[in-house]
Amino acid sequence: MAGSRPAHAPEFDPWPEARRRVLGLLDTPAPLLVVADFDGTLAPITRDPLATRILPAGRRALRLLARLAAERPEQLRLAVLSGRTALDVAGRVRVGRIEYLGNHGLEGGRLPARTRAEKLIVEVDPSLERHVQPAALLGRSVAERLGEPDWLFVEVKGPSVAFHFRQAPDPDEAVARVDAAIAAVGAAGEAGPTGFGELERFEGRRVIEFRPRGAGGKGATLRRLIERERPGTVLVLGDDRSDAEAFRVLAEERTRGRLHGLAVAVHGAVETPPEVVEAADLLLPSPRDAAAVLNALARAASVRLTA
Ligand SMILES: [Mg+2]
Repeated sequence: MAGSRPAHAPEFDPWPEARRRVLGLLDTPAPLLVVADFDGTLAPITRDPLATRILPAGRRALRLLARLAAERPEQLRLAVLSGRTALDVAGRVRVGRIEYLGNHGLEGGRLPARTRAEKLIVEVDPSLERHVQPAALLGRSVAERLGEPDWLFVEVKGPSVAFHFRQAPDPDEAVARVDAAIAAVGAAGEAGPTGFGELERFEGRRVIEFRPRGAGGKGATLRRLIERERPGTVLVLGDDRSDAEAFRVLAEERTRGRLHGLAVAVHGAVETPPEVVEAADLLLPSPRDAAAVLNALARAASVRLTA
């Protein structure tokens, strides 16, 4: 079942072992909270972020999990947690009865059953309002300074902004050029008297992102979710540095004996950052394998919960 193994792959979990460990989550205390990232986890990474599509097998798994979670919330909870905006990711997943957390959890909403994803009602923390203008300005100024090259995709998303360079011929050079442009924009005073000081730089897989300082990323979001949902067990799937933050929160809660769970890293066509592999309990070779594992979990949970 596992995909082909890249030349310098870290240790991948063989399929029966991965399956055994994930299905074992149905034997630890409920509810089981499943939190899945989108890009590189439910969907293969594409060079153009606008072209990214969920794998049909991943959608099938989410559909079944969402139905079970709606019927048996005391047993199962489900959230999709992405760096994209909540509306964007909901529009790409298109499964109702799921909580879509966007912008690493700075915004989100639950899509009711049989509702078009475009109708998702997204709530944003009002305390982040003051970052909206600086983030948009930073996005515009950096793009202009670089001469709006084809390899750059600027994603302005409310209080934060992401510079994607998946299409750049040389990713290292792209990082250097984006950073130089950001520094130049700051030095030129284009940011106004407050500068961009309230925005904090994060680097992911071929993306540099500026988010409100202290607002936290996926780690803080997982903490809030655990606080609210009070799960007995947590399954987190992801492929990037922001997911590693969530993996570490899960590990911390587990060490304190507060819950059980697994952090699953998903490898893709592009490199997996070492800290992701390090923070994970289990490593899957591709989004295809992640979809297979989620389907196995959904089917086993269905048998268990509807028996
Ligand atoms: Mg991802």
